[in-house]
Amino acid sequence: MRCSLCKKDKAVIKYRHSNMYLCADCFKKVFEKKALVVLKRAGVLRGSGKLIVVAVSGGKDSLNTLYVLHKYSEIYDYDVIALLINEGISGYREYTIKGMISLCNKYKIEYKIVSMENEIGFTVDFATELYKKRKIRWKPCTVCGVFRRYLLNKHAREMGADFLATGHNLDDEAQTILLNIFQDSLYRVIQADYISREIVPKMVPRIKPLYYIYEKESVVYALLNKIPAWHIECPHAQYGMRADIRRFLNKLEDLKPGTKINLLLSREKIIQKTKSLKMPMKYCEICGEPSTHEICRACQIRNVINKFL
Ligand code: SF4
Ligand code: ZN
Repeated sequence: MRCSLCKKDKAVIKYRHSNMYLCADCFKKVFEKKALVVLKRAGVLRGSGKLIVVAVSGGKDSLNTLYVLHKYSEIYDYDVIALLINEGISGYREYTIKGMISLCNKYKIEYKIVSMENEIGFTVDFATELYKKRKIRWKPCTVCGVFRRYLLNKHAREMGADFLATGHNLDDEAQTILLNIFQDSLYRVIQADYISREIVPKMVPRIKPLYYIYEKESVVYALLNKIPAWHIECPHAQYGMRADIRRFLNKLEDLKPGTKINLLLSREKIIQKTKSLKMPMKYCEICGEPSTHEICRACQIRNVINKFL
């Protein structure tokens, strides 16, 4: 098939929901334009000298985000620094760290690695062992997610970030919407779309440059740009509900292309209608970080796990 835009080159990707085919060059332009739309809407390009800290895991999505933001930083006036939280997941994290270092070295991007074990006192592997022995009730992904978000916000803020960019793509977002609905967390559904909706002191605004980009597009973009992403799955992914939702949504998208984007569009409409609904933001009585509870989730989990150290 020929590209639907330039009508010249051979297509490398097909968009089923719009029945469009794109060649490598047109696809890259479309991909980058979608990221630029988020940057513009989020106000990243307003003014000058802003700092974007990119939360990097070393997978294709976060490395694509870093690559695109770095590319635009050569045109627009902002700086980019990569930040990776090493949660201590052996057989996984050590490989993805290599991917980030290799991309940063190639494009001379500054980076920082924070060890969860040094900062919090234990690793996700350790918490997983406790979960398997039924000593704690939190699944590995809960512990991992809570502390990753906690450390990303804390370090991005200390680095002076104006924005914290994450690599969430359209598929991740569609899964998260359903996950939160299934867990009766409406606040989480409306808390953020491509940018965090509530800006409170000590909380760095989050942006998701890949918000309108399908997982499939992210795979193709990484391949075309030779992004050194490791195709390796976390050994703890099996404990989460996300994998089931992912399969379910992929099946639905297959049957009815456009299902995932429709979920995102519905959320944007709900956000518009619920602007007055505010998250009851407080500051943790123990660590002082922003939280919806008196004691933040990180401190709640830490208090329990500390007993086993
Ligand atoms: Fe963390 Fe779960 Fe992702 Fe593994 S799958 S990196 S434990 S959130
Ligand atoms: Zn706390």
